[in-house]
Parts: sequence; C-alpha cells; structure tokens
Amino acid sequence: MNPRIVPAFDGIPGTVYLVGAGPGAVDLITLRGLRILRAAHAVCYDSLVSPELLAEARPEAELFHVGKRGYCVGSTQQSHINELLVSLAKSGKVVCRLKGGDPFVFGRGGEEAEVLVNAGVPFEVVPGVTAALAAAAAARIPLTHRAAGQSVAFVTGHHDPDSPECTLDWHALGQMTAIVFYMAVRHIGKIAAKLCDNGLSLDTPAAVVEAATTPRERVIIAPVRDMATAIVAHGVEGPAVFVVGEPVAYRDRLMSLAVKATARANE
Ligand code: SAH
Repeated sequence: MNPRIVPAFDGIPGTVYLVGAGPGAVDLITLRGLRILRAAHAVCYDSLVSPELLAEARPEAELFHVGKRGYCVGSTQQSHINELLVSLAKSGKVVCRLKGGDPFVFGRGGEEAEVLVNAGVPFEVVPGVTAALAAAAAARIPLTHRAAGQSVAFVTGHHDPDSPECTLDWHALGQMTAIVFYMAVRHIGKIAAKLCDNGLSLDTPAAVVEAATTPRERVIIAPVRDMATAIVAHGVEGPAVFVVGEPVAYRDRLMSLAVKATARANE
C-alpha cells in the first residue's frame, strides 16, 4: 500500500478493534480495517468473512473462527466470544474482531462493545460496507433517489412477523420509500403480506440480492407479492437481503454497462 495514504500501524497492545470486513469481496474492507488486520496478534472472525481476507493476517497471528452461518449465534456461544475478546486483550495482544459488513449493523457489535466497556478493555470501531449498501450497489438499485422518495430503512427480518419477538412497526414500514431487510429469506412471504396490509402496493418492485459482491452473487427481481415464490423457484439460500420499494425500478435503466461481481473478483 502507498505509505503516504496508509502509514505503518502496529495497533495498540491490549486493544480490541471491532472491524467491519465488508460484504464479501476482499477489496471492500476499508484501508484502516486492513491495516489493523495486518497488525493483529489475534483475529476473531465470523463465518461470512472471506478466507482470502484472513490470508492478510500475520503468519504468526492466532486465528479464531467464532460465529455461525446465518448469525444465529446462541447466548452460550456469544458469551464464549465475549470472554475470548477480553482475555486476548488482557494478555496484551492487538485483537482484531473481524465482522461481516459493518460491526454495528445487525452483528452484535454493540453487545461486544458493552462487554469490553464493562471489562475495562479499550476498543475502536472500524466501520465496514454493510450488506444493504453493497447489495444495492451491486444490483444497481439507488436506495435513495430524489424522484422516488425520501427515506430508506434497514430492518431485521430474523423474527417471524407473527411471533411476539417481532416488534416492528408495520404501519410505519408500509410508508417507507425503500426498505432493506436483513436475515429475511425464511420469512419473505409473511413480511411482504404485512407490508401490503399496511399500505404498500402488491405491485411494488422488489429484489433479493444473494451473496452480493461474491462470485455467487445473484439478483432476483419480482413484484413484492411474488417474491416468496420467486426465491423458492431460484433456490435462494443466502446470505441475502430483501429490498422493497420504487428505487428497485431504476435498476433496469442502470444495468446497461454493468460490470459483474465475478469479473471484479477475478481481477
Ligand atoms: N453486520 C452485517 C450483517 C450481519 S446479519 C452487515 O453489516 O452487513 C447477516 C445478514 O446480512 C444476512 O442474513 C444477510 O441478510 C446479510 N448479508 C451479509 N452478507 C451479505 C451478502 N454478501 N449479500 C447479501 N446479504 C448479505
């Protein structure tokens, strides 16, 4: 890296760096994130973090795979991660906690930061490109567009909309210009129905973007009413985001001259 832009950085011993790895493509980590990853004595990483990125760690760095595919980390496992971060930092290491996307967007980064505060461990948060932004960019969906509306929401679709755990304000969501649901593959049918019961037109354009910025990237487009059927037909497995709203309609025009994720990954 050009030393003028990216001066040498060793990290501060005894510090945890909560680093966003970005959505998948290795070159979507920030320069600061990469510098910390290269400096770390210990790297604790999630499942969605690319193996190529881990190759950037020092050869002697300790690598800990923590976290599960789908981010359904149970409380026991999360407490294990918390203890690991604290004990590594207290032993004087530079610790890189590498999390998919952005550490503070649906990734338990806030909980981990609280644990570090309670344990008296200094930490820094390094933002990352969150899946919603990467998926929208890859699919050429301008999440805000002056002609389409004035709001965008990032929402978790993890809970069944009919379960008591789901506390979303469906009326408010029904009025949004664009909504990006994370962790929603299992509940897309019910989510679409709730939105349409709360003011959204059944014909509203929608997209599911799977494995954005990786060679597996796929974009499925359908009116919101048909998306549940469409993702079954395409065998969508995730990770994927569900984008709903008028901005999806801009994709058609913006797709000419598109460069594919696979082409970019092969560079
Ligand atoms: N902190 C992460 C989100 C973790 S929750 C971030 O900021 O992106 C995990 C969810 O993120 C997945 O269920 C999926 O909805 C979404 N996701 C992560 N990587 C993705 C990718 N490459 N393409 C599409 N969705 C992705």
